[in-house]
Amino acid sequence: MLMREINNGNRRIAKYWYKDKQKNAVVCKLSPRNCVIKDGQMGFCGVRGNVIGELNTFNYGVGVEATIETIETEAVYHFYPGTRILSLGNVGCMMSCKFCQNWTTSQVKHLNKNNLRFYTPEEIIDMAVENNIGVISWTYNDPVVWHEFVMDTSKLAKSAGIKVLYKTALYIEPEPLAELIEVVDIFSVSLKSMNPDMYRKFTKGRLDPVLRGILQIAKSNCHLEISQLIVTGLNDSKEDARKSARWIVENIGDHIPLHFVGYHPAYKYNKPRTPLSALLSARDIAKSEGIKYCYLGNVYRDDVSNTYCDKCGSLLVQRFGLTVKNAGLSEDNKCLKCGENSPINGIEFKSQSGLKPEGILFNDEKSFEWSSEENSLHIIQQRGDIIYIKVERGGGIEYYELNKGIERLILSKSGKEEKFIKIYTENIDDIAIVPVLDRAHYPVLNDSIDKSKYIN
Ligand code: SF4
Repeated sequence: MLMREINNGNRRIAKYWYKDKQKNAVVCKLSPRNCVIKDGQMGFCGVRGNVIGELNTFNYGVGVEATIETIETEAVYHFYPGTRILSLGNVGCMMSCKFCQNWTTSQVKHLNKNNLRFYTPEEIIDMAVENNIGVISWTYNDPVVWHEFVMDTSKLAKSAGIKVLYKTALYIEPEPLAELIEVVDIFSVSLKSMNPDMYRKFTKGRLDPVLRGILQIAKSNCHLEISQLIVTGLNDSKEDARKSARWIVENIGDHIPLHFVGYHPAYKYNKPRTPLSALLSARDIAKSEGIKYCYLGNVYRDDVSNTYCDKCGSLLVQRFGLTVKNAGLSEDNKCLKCGENSPINGIEFKSQSGLKPEGILFNDEKSFEWSSEENSLHIIQQRGDIIYIKVERGGGIEYYELNKGIERLILSKSGKEEKFIKIYTENIDDIAIVPVLDRAHYPVLNDSIDKSKYIN
């Protein structure tokens, strides 16, 4: 009911549903859950409901603060490495993973209204254009339940020359997915497991529709990468990794990048973080099954997420966390050593940092020390129209800007020797600094976060 209170005035007639007269209800056909919803009731996701015999969406334009990130945050390594993206999350989800890394926004009953923002499609496009960002990313909770807003905004993005990235658990029916394929350029699919029982017991979803959706995307021209969160005690066996890798090789091809990603304990699942040994073992198995490009996510060390030439083995792209460098690609995207075409779809390697702003005195500062568990952070604007930020680390200086539209950006540890970063603004109380516990994690300012980590 919470979403009705928040956005009743902005609700829209939803797409993909029909009336079931016998049951005196509407049936939602957006996700394979196919909720049967009586008048006055909401579906499982908590953001779509029956209003006098019609299915309405209550979260049109309702999201969390837009964030500037890099494309690697979304487990996308083979599409313009290092490019800046505008990440957009909404609320609700068609699944309910016990280990959900973003449960404070995906599970509507836990929503804090103060964390919500209201956007129009035009505002999103303006934000991307004004901040010179070439990719918008539908991400965090899951974009499936934001379908109407995603479609309207993505169509505008296409006509503005902005690429569209869709990061999802892909629990969606074929018809809405077909519509998405027309406007999305990049799909990053989070496959939870190849075990149907794990899906049923721990995600409240089903495996088959997810695999069907992956096959549907693979037949299109969209860029596709697959990731799997390795959850301690749930899908971390050698057999789990083998099944995922084998299915990918046999059904969509050995060239599709596969990311094994470390998890952190969250929501209703409290087993320890994924040990590095489990991720390294999963990578070895995936390679032995024939996966050509297997990467580890949320692992801050050398040589777990580099891209090498398939022909001569030379290093093409070097990565550490979310930091990316061109290590061996020619301007025309070939291996500098042997001339083989690279597997990367487009190269750019722009610096994330901007120019030094004129006349700003960065005389307030705070240090943030990286730890074994905290290697990324969000800087969140707390007040003011424009906040300029100077970052000092490893002998280098970087400049960033937050403004009325974009109130968050992500910073990550950029090398193994880097122990801390120093953050400067005109007034440090203008920002909050919050640890990001894994790269897809969207921390919100509420009681579930250790407030001792905030600057204010
Ligand atoms: S999108 Fe929401 S209402 Fe529709 S079937 Fe899925 S969970 Fe149910």
